[in-house]
Amino acid sequence: MAVSNPLIENYFVGALQMRCSVVTDTVSGDTIIIDGGAEPDRLIAWIDNWQGRGPDWSTGPGFDEYTNGQFPERKVVALVNTHAHFDHSGHIPDLLDNYNVKWYLHEDDFFLQTLAQQSGQRWGFETPPPAVADEKLIAGSVMSFGTIDLEILHTPGHTLGGCCLRLLIDGDSDHIFVGDTLFAGSVGRTDLPNTGGDFDLLSKSIHDKLWPLDDEIIVHPGHGPLTTIGEEKSSNPFVGLSAQQGAFSRGSYL
Ligand SMILES: [Zn+2]
Ligand SMILES: [Zn+2]
Repeated sequence: MAVSNPLIENYFVGALQMRCSVVTDTVSGDTIIIDGGAEPDRLIAWIDNWQGRGPDWSTGPGFDEYTNGQFPERKVVALVNTHAHFDHSGHIPDLLDNYNVKWYLHEDDFFLQTLAQQSGQRWGFETPPPAVADEKLIAGSVMSFGTIDLEILHTPGHTLGGCCLRLLIDGDSDHIFVGDTLFAGSVGRTDLPNTGGDFDLLSKSIHDKLWPLDDEIIVHPGHGPLTTIGEEKSSNPFVGLSAQQGAFSRGSYL
């Protein structure tokens, strides 16, 4: 069942300012964490106790509404990832230590995930030994996490198992969490080692899976500002409908 008035929060975490999104059904309190890759203490403090810095952006009410007893107690029911680069998955073990839930990832990124700690170290970041996913994201299906429904769109190209996660919302525009598949005015890198990056495949994924979606859908990229499907479809210089192949150098996010 689609939720009707979710709280959606974005946290820019870690040195690479990766967007972690937290979605809560404001009726049931069920909560999922998408790409909990860094700053686990900050995420936990706000999700569990409304303490600390909190999110950088949110659809939610003001602080008073959170804390005056009107907002249901939040219950984290699952961790879900768009893909397995260390900035998105490096601190999943710390979240799993705190929340007794399952972690979901597309199986084509399972190998990449085994390298998360190693690739973090190459960039000078210390993360725990990599988490192992408990469950597979099933491409083309709608998966329920508590009372929250996500449609799973497999969009390989930045990584083999990269997925876009469409949050189904009753009575309002959907939101989609695209990881590093698509950015406002850019796309994810396709040159990273051990990743299966392929620009032609990325472009095909976006054309086949994202452009048919409603223009109004709000896009949450893994880095940088929010955008919409309609905006990127019309103006993205790499994959928009009027893009000239090879006219621009490609994106730079991990
Ligand atoms: Zn990233
Ligand atoms: Zn990435």
